[in-house]
Amino acid sequence: MTEEVCDVMVVGSCMTDLVSQAPRLPKAGETIHGHKFFIGFGGKGANQCIQAARLGAKTTMVCKVGKDFFGDNYIQNFKDNGVHTDFVGQASDAATGVASIIVNDAGENAIVIVAGANMLLGSEELHKALPAISHAKVLVCQLEISPQTSLQALRMAQENKVKTIFNPAPAIPDLDTEFYRASDVFCCNESEAELLTGSSVVNVEEALRAGQELLKRGCGSVIITLGPQGCVVVKAQESPSKHVKTTAVTTVDTTGAGDSFIGALAFYMAHYPTMPLEEMARRANQVAGVSVQTVGTQISYPFKKDLPAELF
Ligand code: ADP
Repeated sequence: MTEEVCDVMVVGSCMTDLVSQAPRLPKAGETIHGHKFFIGFGGKGANQCIQAARLGAKTTMVCKVGKDFFGDNYIQNFKDNGVHTDFVGQASDAATGVASIIVNDAGENAIVIVAGANMLLGSEELHKALPAISHAKVLVCQLEISPQTSLQALRMAQENKVKTIFNPAPAIPDLDTEFYRASDVFCCNESEAELLTGSSVVNVEEALRAGQELLKRGCGSVIITLGPQGCVVVKAQESPSKHVKTTAVTTVDTTGAGDSFIGALAFYMAHYPTMPLEEMARRANQVAGVSVQTVGTQISYPFKKDLPAELF
């Protein structure tokens, strides 16, 4: 498929979530009985890719899983969602990334993430994927793989005039300024904006200010998501910064809402390249708003058929 044009290419992580629900979190050295266990598909990169695919984008994932049961299972999950898997590598020297999660009855959790094969994604894999990257419409990266790999992918895309979305998550302090320059859209949530700017970001005014600050570092535009308050859009052109509100919904589980938003944004950027960014953000708010109304991460992401026609 290398020469076939793909709408959205994601270079990022895959994680298998192993979730145990128990009355309380165990203490060191203690064994307790839980009452429910389930396996979920996660990882920011894969989540964003799956959301874009469910909206109808032709998607390709560039990632690394292990040569193990979880890796095989993840590849099948991509296929089931119509994601191209030509660039999903299987490492024999590392396991598929996993997040072991314990949730207690109060909803608190303890999580151990082992990134495993995700950290082996590097230059070699990117060079193999370059013919596909150069033909994509939008490339999306996060920080759950090696930051050098993300930066290299963003640069490859820009050199080939492919639009880039960078999601600096999980955020790292003192992010290399090259990431800003390589981002057409720099999209993060409040806590990431706070860590990156060193200023409080808990309301719309502060988010608008943080957006201006991040914009000065060299990206094309900034979006900061604000949970039930939607997001702010800050653009380099003369147009004023905007708060893009969203509709109130009954929230059941907000896990992965940010990834749903970014996957949707990637879909809109690929399909409606001339649409104003504020309108794309308004629509991405609606998509992510659906994802918070049911339990789970990818399992809560809506398909095109579940959404109002006005969003397409
Ligand atoms: P993250 O998951 O990274 O913390 P946010 O909490 O900012 O990201 O959520 C991302 C997007 O999901 C928001 O911009 C909004 O569109 C949607 N969203 C999140 N929580 C809600 C909510 N309670 N009601 C409606 N939309 C929500």
